[in-house]
Amino acid sequence: MDFQDSASEAEVRADARAWLAANLPDAEARRSMGYGVADEAAALALAKTWQARKADAGWACMHWPAQYGGRGASPIERLIFEEEERRAGAPTGFFEIGLGMAGPTLQAYASEEQKASLLPRMLRGQDVWCQLFSEPAAGSDLAALRMRAVRDGDDWVLTGQKTWTSGAHYADYGIIVARSDPSLPKHRGLTFFFVDMRSPGITTRQIRQITGPADFDDVFFDEVRVADSQRLGAVGAGWQVALTTLMNERLSLGDVARPGYEELVARLRMSEIGGRPALEQADIAARVTDWHVRSRGVAFTRARIITALSRGQEPGPEASILKLASTAMFQEIADFATGLEDQGGVLLAEDRQAGVADFQFAYLFSPSFRVAGGTDQILRNIIAERVLGLPPEPRVDKDVPFNS
Ligand SMILES: Cc1cc2nc3c(=O)[nH]c(=O)nc-3n(C[C@H](O)[C@H](O)[C@H](O)COP(=O)(O)OP(=O)(O)OC[C@H]3O[C@@H](n4cnc5c(N)ncnc54)[C@H](O)[C@@H]3O)c2cc1C
Repeated sequence: MDFQDSASEAEVRADARAWLAANLPDAEARRSMGYGVADEAAALALAKTWQARKADAGWACMHWPAQYGGRGASPIERLIFEEEERRAGAPTGFFEIGLGMAGPTLQAYASEEQKASLLPRMLRGQDVWCQLFSEPAAGSDLAALRMRAVRDGDDWVLTGQKTWTSGAHYADYGIIVARSDPSLPKHRGLTFFFVDMRSPGITTRQIRQITGPADFDDVFFDEVRVADSQRLGAVGAGWQVALTTLMNERLSLGDVARPGYEELVARLRMSEIGGRPALEQADIAARVTDWHVRSRGVAFTRARIITALSRGQEPGPEASILKLASTAMFQEIADFATGLEDQGGVLLAEDRQAGVADFQFAYLFSPSFRVAGGTDQILRNIIAERVLGLPPEPRVDKDVPFNS
């Protein structure tokens, strides 16, 4: 593939850059509307305003069809805008699950009427979506989930517990996989729905993280009624639908998280260690060079996947490479940058330099990145089996009825 912008792509890039420069709130305001800040309600309100402004200007999900609020832009144009958005430090956290995962799943499986009513609101940030997949005994082994879905006339009745559900306590809707037939092997008895998070019978309980905020939840379903019209995909085909969501998840989580390589280099340019510019020191230069090579590898792998999307293919198992490589690098860089602070690195950080506080937050947040959306080990299994074609690990319960 050609990594230079064509004339029309260069135009989109210049437009995006100019629009972001003219419209993006300043760094302080951006921080207060980011994901994981102390005043979550205020952050969400600000983030919604920003998302609506993006939508008005035609930049929100520009690759979505016009009838859902996009502008039918090519995957490459989308990539260009997202690159510029990242470079400018624009926050996207609250809407990533909706736009990156629920949105593509609805586009593939919802009715036209549902798409017309739900997708434009999602795109404008009016509705926030969450992803109700993991359970206490079903994370890596998601197909072992136990949330029950029992058919009752035109409804389904859902009972059970989800956990680690990011944003469940403020989400308007969720996508959910439940077990509709326990007599089938684990992957075959699942059905996929979307639910209104304000339905009677849903309660959420926030879980606090080491970073300070409590932005994910335990979610309890006590005989929650969900209309059959909210089923996505066929009864029993929930696993296939979930795979669409998960492949999109790895693509969106595989973005290079910030602060990363560029922020580190910017910081090092201003730093001296032992009286000499940090970047002139051989051991630091060697590490930075390694991260440069890896961050280019991540960027090119992402571009290759976007190219495949532009040819009408779905994101495949290769998206796992992105997430595996970029989250490990994110953690290493945060660790290194925090270490540069010497003993100051252990102090938390409100009244310290913004750039330093960002790395400290990243240091605390980064381990969870290597777990959320598929752990390193699971991603390695996927790459081994589905990209490299190596023999699969033994799966003794694969063909056994779940209730046995
Ligand atoms: C910040 C954060 C946000 C999250 N948000 C959401 C969300 O919005 N919605 C949602 O549904 N879930 C969410 N999750 C949950 C996440 O998807 C799970 O934590 C993840 O899938 C791992 O599952 P688990 O925690 O049950 O760990 P386990 O599956 O119990 O894994 C424990 C350890 O065993 C290893 N392991 C497991 N199986 C294998 C194997 N076959 N081979 C080798 N090693 C193995 C794992 O790699 C891991 O190290 C979130 C998690 C985090 C940390």
